[in-house]
Amino acid sequence: MNCQKCGLPKELCICETIAKEAQRITIRLVQKRYGKHTTVIRGIDSSKINIRDLLKTLKSRLACGGTYKNGELEIQGDHRQRAKAILVKEGFPADIIEIS
Ligand SMILES: [Zn+2]
Repeated sequence: MNCQKCGLPKELCICETIAKEAQRITIRLVQKRYGKHTTVIRGIDSSKINIRDLLKTLKSRLACGGTYKNGELEIQGDHRQRAKAILVKEGFPADIIEIS
């Protein structure tokens, strides 16, 4: 299967890599009602990155629930540090990810 953007086979295509490097991602902790914590990841461009796959990866590695809405990934619980580590492992450069 070839990339729809550059036409190269998937294993040669670097479109997603370029997209990952051009972004700025913030990870923050939000306190929901009843004191529940949610880790919110913002800044991932869903038009360039397969956000569903990324969410699935985060949920299974962190063993928790999560959703994608309004352009943000929401993961139940405080997983800021681990979420960053997972994003880095998935190919996002560490220096574009900011934890607040
Ligand atoms: Zn491509």
